[in-house]
Amino acid sequence: MTEYDAVIVGAGIVGLSTGYHLKRMNPKLDVLIVDKRGAAGQGSTAKSAAAFRCLFASQTNFALADSSAEFYRHVQDDLKFDLKLRWAGYLWFFDDEGYRKILPVLRDLGGRGFQYREYDGADLAKKLEMKTDFSRDDEAKMMGLANVQKGVLIPKAGLIDVDSLVKYYESEFLRLGGRIQYHTTAEELVVEPRNPLGMPGEPYFWQDATITGIKTSKGLIKAKKTIVAAGAWTSQLLDPVGIECFIKAKKRQVFSIKAKTESLKKLLYCKEFTNAGCLPFTILPNPTAYIRPAPEEDALWLAYADEFPRAFKVEEEPEAEENYYTYGLYQVMVKYFPQLTDCQPFSSFAGLYEINSIDGQPVIFEENGVMVVGGASGSGILKADSMGRIAAALYGGEEFANLYGERKFKVSDLGLKNRSVEPEKLVI
Ligand SMILES: Cc1cc2nc3c(=O)[nH]c(=O)nc-3n(C[C@H](O)[C@H](O)[C@H](O)COP(=O)(O)OP(=O)(O)OC[C@H]3O[C@@H](n4cnc5c(N)ncnc54)[C@H](O)[C@@H]3O)c2cc1C
Repeated sequence: MTEYDAVIVGAGIVGLSTGYHLKRMNPKLDVLIVDKRGAAGQGSTAKSAAAFRCLFASQTNFALADSSAEFYRHVQDDLKFDLKLRWAGYLWFFDDEGYRKILPVLRDLGGRGFQYREYDGADLAKKLEMKTDFSRDDEAKMMGLANVQKGVLIPKAGLIDVDSLVKYYESEFLRLGGRIQYHTTAEELVVEPRNPLGMPGEPYFWQDATITGIKTSKGLIKAKKTIVAAGAWTSQLLDPVGIECFIKAKKRQVFSIKAKTESLKKLLYCKEFTNAGCLPFTILPNPTAYIRPAPEEDALWLAYADEFPRAFKVEEEPEAEENYYTYGLYQVMVKYFPQLTDCQPFSSFAGLYEINSIDGQPVIFEENGVMVVGGASGSGILKADSMGRIAAALYGGEEFANLYGERKFKVSDLGLKNRSVEPEKLVI
């Protein structure tokens, strides 16, 4: 039976990036990616809002996001592989208190050369034909909606076509000789003693044991290293062998509104902030619901990542909930943007965030012969390239990974034993 150098479970953006960087760093490696679905990027990757930003306060986040974005820029501009990058920016709204809290962070970032621009509430009200002051709106007050005192625009941010990014990594991985097997479910990790004694039910606890591959719906696959990049489904493979990965699934929903009226078209194709030809990715102050412009489908995507009491729950095909829009998102959004009055979604979708329950940043570690790459917690697209490089460095036993742009990143910083990540102060 063939023994692969590495088998990767998951052809999402993280598994593909990991496979590509493994092959790029060592083309002789025999690497197989398996996925239970019929094509690449059909898990949470297909459900993302496809937005990216580089401005983070934490050095960890900044390193992961900025170097990934620079790599995507390189793929598009230098390698001429169109990722449909649109530098539309992020426009972040704050109330008084939120702005006071964020100001020292912004000043600090500004001092380090990061670019951002500020707008005051009245200016935003005019530019976006929105409501920013709810002092005379009892309903808005009852709902706890925050006024918009300030808007902060981060220009080094925007939108990417995730299908194209998936295609890029998949085609490069295959070009380098990697193999992919779709419609193949990893049912369990195979644990074997390093020195088998032929006893029934081995390994026993006193035996030195390790993961030697995966049992799949298409048969056994043996590998020197098994890499689990199964997104929100990661714990389904690790829990049965007693490995804690700290990755939990939570549903996230997106509702798409067609820009049918003049006022919605004006909002969607707003040219006031950047020259990308559309509204920036816009985040409300509280609740932090967001509008993701989707000019490619003449639409605005509305979403909110709810926390309590949204369950941690692994689902195969999560569905968007009508009431979540009707009584939740719509009620909030229409207060800020009256242009949305009576708007019904023409489509909606839901996916799963793969949340790292320790600190919301990725986990990349190895334990008992299995590597885990995941837990990007809702920012896997914008960190995928760095995550793949760090995983490949871990595979190679390197202390540091070389992120795009010759930036060094200590591999163990995203591990579990010597984890060292700076907390993020610029949280959406
Ligand atoms: C609504 C929403 C909006 C988002 N918006 C953004 C955004 O704007 N920007 C951003 O950066 N990120 C965003 N994200 C997060 C982003 O989509 C994820 O972080 C990213 O896609 C995770 O990639 P992954 O490869 O780890 O997981 P996935 O894409 O889920 O890939 C895991 C793969 O593993 C496969 N798999 C699982 N179990 C098995 C098994 N047992 N056997 C075989 N195959 C298996 C699955 O089929 C899947 O293809 C969003 C997510 C959601 C849900």
